[in-house]
Amino acid sequence: MKSISEIFGSMVFNDDVMRERLPKEVYKSLMKTIATGKTIDASVADVVANAMKDWAIEKGATHYTHWFQPLTGVTAEKHDSFISPVGNCKVVMEFSGKELIKGESDASSFPSGGLRATFEARGYTAWDPASYAFVKDGTLYIPTAFCSYTGEALDTKTPLLRSMDAINTEGLRLLRLFGDNTTKRLTTTVGAEQEYFIIDKEIYNQRKDLIYSGRTLFGARAPKGQELEDHYFGPLKSRISAFMRDLDEALWTLGINSKTKHNEAAPAQHELAPIFSTTNMAVDQNLLIMEYMKKIAEEHGLVCLLHEKPYAGVNGSGKHNNWSLNTETGKNLLDPGKTPAENVKFLLILAAILKAVDEYQDLLRISVASAGNDNRLGGGEAPPAIVSVFLGEELDDIIEAIINGDVYKGKKAGVMDLGIPTIPTFRKDTTDRNRTSPLAFTGNKFEFRMLGSSQNIAMPNVVMNTAVAESFRQFADVLEAAEDFDAAVAELMRETFAKHRRIIFDGNGYSKEWEIEAAERGLLNLKDSVEAYKCFDLPKNIKLFSTHGVMSETEIRSRKDILFENYSKIINIEALTMIEMAAREIIPAVSEYVGDVASNAAAKLSVMPKISCKVEKDLIEKLSALNEKAYEKVAELRVAEAKAAAIEDNEAAAEEYRSVVLPIMAELRTAVDAMESLTASDYWPLPSYGDMMFRV
Ligand code: ADP
Ligand code: MG
Repeated sequence: MKSISEIFGSMVFNDDVMRERLPKEVYKSLMKTIATGKTIDASVADVVANAMKDWAIEKGATHYTHWFQPLTGVTAEKHDSFISPVGNCKVVMEFSGKELIKGESDASSFPSGGLRATFEARGYTAWDPASYAFVKDGTLYIPTAFCSYTGEALDTKTPLLRSMDAINTEGLRLLRLFGDNTTKRLTTTVGAEQEYFIIDKEIYNQRKDLIYSGRTLFGARAPKGQELEDHYFGPLKSRISAFMRDLDEALWTLGINSKTKHNEAAPAQHELAPIFSTTNMAVDQNLLIMEYMKKIAEEHGLVCLLHEKPYAGVNGSGKHNNWSLNTETGKNLLDPGKTPAENVKFLLILAAILKAVDEYQDLLRISVASAGNDNRLGGGEAPPAIVSVFLGEELDDIIEAIINGDVYKGKKAGVMDLGIPTIPTFRKDTTDRNRTSPLAFTGNKFEFRMLGSSQNIAMPNVVMNTAVAESFRQFADVLEAAEDFDAAVAELMRETFAKHRRIIFDGNGYSKEWEIEAAERGLLNLKDSVEAYKCFDLPKNIKLFSTHGVMSETEIRSRKDILFENYSKIINIEALTMIEMAAREIIPAVSEYVGDVASNAAAKLSVMPKISCKVEKDLIEKLSALNEKAYEKVAELRVAEAKAAAIEDNEAAAEEYRSVVLPIMAELRTAVDAMESLTASDYWPLPSYGDMMFRV
């Protein structure tokens, strides 16, 4: 067996490989392109393409693909071979710079939210030199952006790269004001912790709801859930650990630093966290992690469920997006720092982030909103739908002191001239980590915990990057014009903290009281996806994204439309699946059981006419009533689904699904789950919650 260091990154065309295989000048030129984001020279591209091809062929590749992230949230690829004919019976393997840089793609089957209708039918993919290419399944994967011919982004990666540019530009302005003339580039880094469930494949195959919608649409609670808390960090079952071993190995070859693995709170729930990397790479890696989780699970006779809420009544799955801001030399600007000067800079950046989160609560909420995540957020196990920030006691006190113009006399902090306190480096664990907070400061990074487990993590980062860039822009405007820099910084900080302190909340985010208090503070509580999506194209949001060149008004509108459309599609599939399962599996099974119970009662009575048939009568009565109810709800659901599906406007359709279709689905489920707990298990046509969660 090969050692980990031998296999790690062996399938990635990374910096080491490039340095080794590219002529010095070409390598330098490519690095410059990556650092500045400028377009690459055609002659350079040819050399890179050729080196990439030779390397890929050595790794067993015969094909290449432009790999992109359409607005559906999953990845897409179209494979071409390197083969190029020479004469009649010979081929050579070729790959040109042109093919590397740009790919034509028939975009018509990807959602564009009307963008293509207004513009052009085709889209193209453009190489993102800042994300490494890699070989997987005999194919060279080239990470690309996906755009329409008129330049509108049809993907999630383009706005991400633009937002990274925005925070770099505005962040550097601030750093220069603090006398930093050496930093060349600021990048955001992300480490995304991924939660998931594992289920036995045979059991999975018996449930249409899991197959079609990724979650159970019916299912009575198992006698044992997560109440004993014996699963969290518990020992791994051997089948699971074999799966995790293979998963890690596959991810390592792709250079993904899969680091921690442990059991999560719910039975059969687990988590994987890679070591953080530059945001665009972190996004690519998270997509690959999700893909490989599914693929490797299959090889072990298992299925990986990435849905936000596979099972009602037990924890759902999310993703924690750990975010920080770093210089090209690896200095983290979210590190409080040791000197008073660093300290002021840190506090100003903190103020910028609080302002960004407060002013764009709606966008952060939208960036995590999906039909799947609606089942989880605010469910008493995940952050609520209200966005707030946890900072910890020490920072809270400092902010309070700044607002009041007091001298901070904290335990550890010293005092500096401006009346601005200095904080010594405080380690992660000195802050009490509030698990219920949607966005928590954890020592040197912000951990955004509202993300759904199945989503592409690009959008939350687009919002964070752009909103913070906007705070930086405003701060830089003020400070560049200031006569007394120190006084201006102090005033800006005081003003910003005072205005945006309402977004800070350190209490229990899961509690009912918080909802009330948040309303008093004027914070948004966008309870579901439909409510959230509506805010997407508010004038302030259009202004934000267009100011920084991240998304145009057209791009925002098209995305909003796609979000509504996706939402409706998901609920529609769920509704149809419920109808199918209830009408063709569950109702007939209950009917059969009731029939057999009735026959048994009749048989008993024929032998002993006076015997009590209390059990049978009771079961027949209860189950008949419930089955009738289920039958009626199926009929209602058919009508409601057809009506919603016929609505042409995507927003109106989504509203109909949310307000009319979802409540009927919930009523149908209630009736069916009640029947499950009354019906003999031999008759029940579906594996139970216990089977699904405890038989892995
Ligand atoms: P938790 O206690 O929240 O489960 P983990 O250790 O599992 O924390 O995960 C923390 C994640 O944060 C990892 O992916 C880690 O690489 C990432 N991380 C650590 N430092 C930074 C940073 N400066 N920027 C972004 N992500 C970071
Ligand atoms: Mg975490």
